[in-house]
Amino acid sequence: MLMNGLDNDIVYDELTGVLSFKSFLSEARRILDENPDTEYLLLVWDIERFKVVNDIFGMDMGDNVLRGLADTFRREILKSGIIGRIGGDKFVCLCIKDDISISHIEDKMKYTIETDTEKYRLFVQAGVYYIDDRDIPVIKMCDRALIALNSVKGIHTDKVEVYTETKREELITGQHLVSDMEKGIAGREFFVVIQPIYDVRTGAVAAGEVLVRWNHPKYGLLMPGRFVPVFEKNFMISKLDHFVWEEACRIIRDMIDQGVRVVPLSINVSRVNLYHNDLPDILDGLTAKYNIPREYLRVEITESAYMDNREQLIFTVNRLKAAGYDVMMDDFGTGYSSLNLLKDISFDLLKIDKKLIDEIVVSDRAGNVVSSVVKMAKWLGMSVVAEGVETGNQAAFLKNIGSDYIQGYLYSRPVDVKDFLQKCTQSADNYYRVEFNDIDIDNILNIKDPQIRSFMDELIGPMALCEFDEAQLRLLKVNSEFIRLFKTSPQKLYVNNTFFFSSEDSFTKQRLVDACLNARRKSRAESVIVSHKKSKDSWMWLSMSIRYVGDAEGKSRFIFSVKDITKERNRRNKQQMVDFYPFLCHLYKEIIELNYTEGTVTTLYKDDDSIKQINKKAPMQESIDKFASYVITGDSRNEFISKTSTEYMDKFFNSKEKIFTIEIQVITRKGKHCSCEMTFIKTGQNPGPKTVIACTRVVG
Ligand code: C2E
Ligand code: MG
Ligand code: MG
Repeated sequence: MLMNGLDNDIVYDELTGVLSFKSFLSEARRILDENPDTEYLLLVWDIERFKVVNDIFGMDMGDNVLRGLADTFRREILKSGIIGRIGGDKFVCLCIKDDISISHIEDKMKYTIETDTEKYRLFVQAGVYYIDDRDIPVIKMCDRALIALNSVKGIHTDKVEVYTETKREELITGQHLVSDMEKGIAGREFFVVIQPIYDVRTGAVAAGEVLVRWNHPKYGLLMPGRFVPVFEKNFMISKLDHFVWEEACRIIRDMIDQGVRVVPLSINVSRVNLYHNDLPDILDGLTAKYNIPREYLRVEITESAYMDNREQLIFTVNRLKAAGYDVMMDDFGTGYSSLNLLKDISFDLLKIDKKLIDEIVVSDRAGNVVSSVVKMAKWLGMSVVAEGVETGNQAAFLKNIGSDYIQGYLYSRPVDVKDFLQKCTQSADNYYRVEFNDIDIDNILNIKDPQIRSFMDELIGPMALCEFDEAQLRLLKVNSEFIRLFKTSPQKLYVNNTFFFSSEDSFTKQRLVDACLNARRKSRAESVIVSHKKSKDSWMWLSMSIRYVGDAEGKSRFIFSVKDITKERNRRNKQQMVDFYPFLCHLYKEIIELNYTEGTVTTLYKDDDSIKQINKKAPMQESIDKFASYVITGDSRNEFISKTSTEYMDKFFNSKEKIFTIEIQVITRKGKHCSCEMTFIKTGQNPGPKTVIACTRVVG
């Protein structure tokens, strides 16, 4: 029976009612001594990343979870024994070995948090020590159970692990590794390998990820999984990371010196290093030392770092970006992905984790989630890398849904630096300058016979011949369809022959220049979509196909064929939202469309049947007022009203922003107070209906 025979000066934990750790230690010793012939085990358990519960749901909920967790073990798992709280979310119990089976613990310890609107699965993990040596102090026994528990950390599942001598040896090895590190760096036992990252469209190596290896004198070749987590725990990782970053810069310098095609190299930044403010300075120092352009160094940051310290991460990433480095979100989709993260931080690239990739061909749902993540990322202006691609089926799927880059054993394992440079050279896109052949192009643009000319023009649509002198793009010739499209006169066009290339919109200009460079490098047509301002408040969307046709007088010439896609684009905006649904519904509890052109509100998705109110084109002002007065409480009411006002939304529509988030305090139908995150996403665009969707979920 539980807590049988305990005496009175025992101290209990106030929150959960189990024994304090000190009392547990003395009681356990007494029980072991009084029952020398009974076999016991010691079990410790906690929740994977418990801190997240407090962060998302608040401390009160955190306390409830701890009470619940102690209760579940007391009522459903343990038939005998005593329970104590080690501290935080860690508990320990001593019980008779035959009273408990591991599969029973694994079955029973599933734990879910339920609020009015949300269900959240927690992972409970446990470590067991079968007490085979009674002579060691109970605290040492706890250490052994904790060694078993620590060996499952970082895995997102429920798990019970049993202590073995090997685990203890691994821990001791870990301690040896820590003390061997400095010597290892000095003795050049560490080295890097590079895994190529391939461009899906061209099949060429587009980048590489630098990964560390350790040739340990005693243990042989060690993979980072063996030592990186150990160094992270011991705050030793900075030194190693720094070594790897410097190697990366040195390799980039070599690429430049050897004249091979230079591709960007990614480095991994351990989350520990993210919280040191000097990361950008260190990288600036290294890129200066090796005299390499910063855009060749890419910084990979793991998704889970976001949960630990949001503000710091946002701060660091913004500084890195401002300094000119590309920043990539690594391991996306493994844990606590949120749109917020993508909105708060404008990553340049998003790397989808192997775990999600593994599932795409076996589960339709995972396939849907991945494809909407890809679309969403594109929409937010990020490129997508798929990691850990091992099969042709996965690659085909990823190509189909528009993933930009692929990294995986299917294409290449990590290779040594020499092989990597070779791979870059092999797959280099040859940009051979061809001398420009005037005749073909002139024939198309300068057909003398008016009838044939108008026939040709209609057939090929708006078209222009441009030249590029590595700084400026200029119009040389255009056809009549081109003039008609821009509703301008030929005189005007030629007088101002830089046309939209010199517009104030440097973003569009840069995209056109980039597209020309790509078209020339790859010797194939490059497509790009740009917006063009027609008048004060109307734009048109243009799809341009750009083809390099050759060089003349040292300048490269390109044919632009242009298509007005404004109508399709507006239709597609709607379609895009449909494409994102699987991912949005995965994240949010309720999605509502606000149409500011019509002044209506429509509920698009709700994952809780208990809420009866479903709007369909309800009058907007009335719905907003109702929601503000009956559902929202406190100060957030004013913020909600002002952020949903027509004036505010007009500003939003005319800006480049695509998303914004507010936090509101609400009272649920059951009278409970909670905090909600409400994310507004632009779905309509000028010109066209002004629509946004509002996605809501509970955060605390
Ligand atoms: P990561 O950054 O997510 O790196 C990708 C890992 O996935 C690499 O393992 C790579 O070899 C592996 N991988 C790539 N494609 C495939 C595939 O198709 N199948 C399979 N099974 N695996 C694939 P690696 O080199 O063992 O690195 C593991 C982790 O160690 C890395 O994960 C990264 O988090 C960490 N790491 C590696 N080098 C460094 C470093 O220099 N500094 C820090 N802080 N961490 C590092
Ligand atoms: Mg990585
Ligand atoms: Mg990764």
